[in-house]
Amino acid sequence: MQYFDIHTHQPSVRPNDIAIVNIDSFRNKFEFLPKETGIPSERNYFSCGIHPRYIDDVERQLDELQKYLSLPEVVLLGEAGFDKLAQASVFLQQDVFLAQADLAEEYCKPMIIHCVKAWQEIEAAKNKIKPRVPWIIHGFRGNDILATQLIRQGFYLSFGEYFNLQAVRMAWPGRLFVETDDKPVDVRIVYKKIAEALFIEESRLVEQVAENVARLGLIK
Ligand SMILES: [Zn+2]
Repeated sequence: MQYFDIHTHQPSVRPNDIAIVNIDSFRNKFEFLPKETGIPSERNYFSCGIHPRYIDDVERQLDELQKYLSLPEVVLLGEAGFDKLAQASVFLQQDVFLAQADLAEEYCKPMIIHCVKAWQEIEAAKNKIKPRVPWIIHGFRGNDILATQLIRQGFYLSFGEYFNLQAVRMAWPGRLFVETDDKPVDVRIVYKKIAEALFIEESRLVEQVAENVARLGLIK
């Protein structure tokens, strides 16, 4: 059974579990991973993007991002998105997000999305771009009504340690992913909690998430 953690900021605690580790190229350095983790390099996967809270020198950031996107081990673009608590204006966030969404299309990499109190903005962006690549909302903690609305619009939802029970049930089976984000928790604990919420065996959840990962072509 292959466990996947599709969004985390640290390498997996178990070398056999596959984690898509977020590299924020503008705060950490890219070389921080492969050798030091002890995980074989062919099992290292990354996401890279301009987080709405760290918008800075956009032109340089977009340039740097493109270098990462051309690497096969960078399998997701993100975290990118909208955050009403960030310093950057909504207009700037929108420009930066749309530029990244275009890159996701160009490089054919699905997006991992950070969205705080900005559901209208993210939905508007999706209507504008009409992306071919999947868009996954990470750390989803909204309720079932919001989950249903987002799923209808084609979004995928990724759940961490804390989640709304009804929302998880809406995303099950085909729209659901599992993550640890910045929490120092074993992803298997999160799987256990979600499986309990769904009243299913943990192995069934593991299989389904692996199927979703394969279907979206996240990891080839
Ligand atoms: Zn994160």
